[in-house]
Amino acid sequence: MQAMLLTSCFAAALLASLALKYWLATRQMRHVAAHRGAVPAAFAATIALAAHQKAADYTLAKGRFGLWSTAFGAAVLLGWTLLGGLDALNATLRDTLFDRFGGMAYQLALLAAFALVGGLLDAPFEAWSTFRIEQRFGFNRVTWKLYLADALKGVAVGALIGLPIAALILWIMGAAGALWWLWAWAAWMGFNLLILVLYPTVIAPLFNKFEPLADESMKARVQALMARCGFTAKGLFVMDGSRRSAHANAYFTGFGAAKRVVFFDTLLAKLSAAEVEAVLAHELGHFKHKHVLKRMAAMFALSLAGFALLGWLSGQGWFYRGLGVEPNVAAPNDALALLLFLLAAPVFGYFVSPLLANLSRRHEFQADAYACAQASGADLAAALLKLHEDNAATLTPDPVFVKFYYSHPPASERLAAMQQLGAGLA
Ligand SMILES: [Zn+2]
Repeated sequence: MQAMLLTSCFAAALLASLALKYWLATRQMRHVAAHRGAVPAAFAATIALAAHQKAADYTLAKGRFGLWSTAFGAAVLLGWTLLGGLDALNATLRDTLFDRFGGMAYQLALLAAFALVGGLLDAPFEAWSTFRIEQRFGFNRVTWKLYLADALKGVAVGALIGLPIAALILWIMGAAGALWWLWAWAAWMGFNLLILVLYPTVIAPLFNKFEPLADESMKARVQALMARCGFTAKGLFVMDGSRRSAHANAYFTGFGAAKRVVFFDTLLAKLSAAEVEAVLAHELGHFKHKHVLKRMAAMFALSLAGFALLGWLSGQGWFYRGLGVEPNVAAPNDALALLLFLLAAPVFGYFVSPLLANLSRRHEFQADAYACAQASGADLAAALLKLHEDNAATLTPDPVFVKFYYSHPPASERLAAMQQLGAGLA
């Protein structure tokens, strides 16, 4: 009875989310196509028609691809759950491994097999996106050789990091009693903090080269800005982002005084020193307004709620049967519960994602305002436009699509807000 109810809720939520995704995506594509013919008046002086049309074509190509991958993702999700894929995989691994090697080995094998099959199913879509779409618009710099090397490294790093934390969580689930979810949550949080430390120093260098920023005048500029804003950084680095993609970026990693600033070489190549400074001032604005901390606190709270929910669900037979899996009788069900939760939660979570996007957009406005106060608003506006053009981001998104998905406000709104601060384009 309860299992049937869960099945119906899950199927209804999946259908509703699919319908919503299609409605939003086609709105966006229609809107962009309808505005392809002319550069919006506000940008007519700064953006060429060819660049505007490239952005429209890129958005449309990604939109069409998104429709296919959404449909495929839904089919795979149904395949794992209601159509019995996970049940079959589980039965096979349990029957071959549990008696001989015990519960932990069987459960780790189940998680690893699930991740491998999922990765293989996604692989053609990722390759298509890189070698067809990104390639066609001149963004891809990856060779097949580097692509495959990345994939193999990714699997190795994933196994090296993922298996120990999975083993720890599974052990807690089996051994820590009724409040296991609280302990598991604590372990998961500790793991996340560890990754925050290890990512810039150990993991990222496996994939990219990081060199100290050599340009002395740029260095002096950045250091002056940071001193003005009351920040210290452990180092300024340039990353060879151009090895893989022409898209440009800059980011901060690490905590407190161990913060690092990483510039993509593609960013330094495209922006003037003053524009780089303005972009960095925007990033500092996120720190000044404690957006990073707030995001982390929200992530901690969300995952606590998630673990508490999982703690309850994992003890209910209908949770497994309702999602197409027969729970084990002798063997532990912890890995199964984890997987089902990871599969089902995003289907329901999709409907609250606009709240997070809305919060994120508000943070972007605040960071822009901070950048306008600490650096030149005109430079920030110019950098924004250059990055939009270089990334072929559309200047004419559908307003409803923006409300639902955009983590950053559209360029027109950001420039208008800057202009109100008296700092926009001259
Ligand atoms: Zn930002």
